[in-house]
Amino acid sequence: MKIGILGAGQLGRMLAIAGYPLEMSFCFYDTSGAPSVGFGDILVDKGGAGEKLEEFLKEVDIVTYEFEHLPLKLTQTIENQKPLYPSSRSIEVCQNRAKEKALFKELGIPTAEYRIATNAEELKAAAQELGCPVVAKSVTEGYDGKGQAVLKEASDAEKAWAAINHDAVIVESFINFSRELSIIAARSTTGEIAFYPLAENNHHDGILRYSVAPAPHISAELQQQAESHIKALISELGHVGILTLELFETPEGLMANEMAPRVHNSGHWSIEGAASSQFENHLRAIAGLPLGDTQANKPTCMINIIAEKGDKEAILKLPYAHLHLYGKEERKGRKLGHVTVQADSYEELAWRVKNVASFLPGSPDFISSIS
Ligand code: AMP
Repeated sequence: MKIGILGAGQLGRMLAIAGYPLEMSFCFYDTSGAPSVGFGDILVDKGGAGEKLEEFLKEVDIVTYEFEHLPLKLTQTIENQKPLYPSSRSIEVCQNRAKEKALFKELGIPTAEYRIATNAEELKAAAQELGCPVVAKSVTEGYDGKGQAVLKEASDAEKAWAAINHDAVIVESFINFSRELSIIAARSTTGEIAFYPLAENNHHDGILRYSVAPAPHISAELQQQAESHIKALISELGHVGILTLELFETPEGLMANEMAPRVHNSGHWSIEGAASSQFENHLRAIAGLPLGDTQANKPTCMINIIAEKGDKEAILKLPYAHLHLYGKEERKGRKLGHVTVQADSYEELAWRVKNVASFLPGSPDFISSIS
């Protein structure tokens, strides 16, 4: 089976690494002009003019993607010719924060109170109505904390509007969460569903730095609550493939922040930490194969390598660390790779994570609920 992937970065690369043992092959459609995937057939169509689209679609049996900010016209064109998983409906909702939040509300999934604003005055009025602080985010195209601003006072509206520089923003009440969690689920074309354990995520400057899975101190009820929220979304969307739901933990329970219709950075731990990684299960799901086991085999932490690759030799000498580099050049704020660290206890895990982080320049302190 030949899988077509829209995008040719690290997520596509890790999908392909997971797919070759299942006798799958890969063709990547890249519109950035700078594919970093490093193998497989790569069709570059810089700017996305569509010149290579017919060739791409002729090559492949099914199409998936590593990036949901895709033009809907493109995804609908693809769907008319080849199966696209997850479908354009999942893309349409997940690429638009207003539609995403409306769906959370419709399904009774707790989420922040919000308003939509289309100019600085409306942003100010929304901040006054909701009560500051509020978080303003561009309705479309935001990622890694980009296109966002926190308003401490309503009078910050003009400055925030100019900084975000978009046609529309979603204005959310600020949630006083105790920690950030995410849940990843896979649904196959056959309807089979599997859930990974909740992961605890630590961000720094808007970028994910550490994910611990299974998240420590999670009751069966909390895991169940997360599974029931993501299952409701999957069912409503008719989703096929991996879906990721980012959550805030609060004293009142879980609140949904946002979701992604794809493999996610907070699931990279599963490459070594589970019998079947999120990448493998995404491929199994879209190919209609039985899903693999999602349970964590040990306390595991994923550490992102950002901007500088650090001391590769020192990390390779550690018996408990697995290094993944993505074949990208060093650049400020860029995700260049990750390290998976495993241990038999959370205490040992915390020590090992700090040790690995000491070989990665610029790593923020490892903050987690372990201790
Ligand atoms: P997002 O792009 O929606 O994932 O937001 C990036 C980060 O901003 C999140 O990981 C949170 O740390 C923070 N954040 C987003 N929305 C809120 C909110 N409503 N209240 C408090 N913090 C938020």
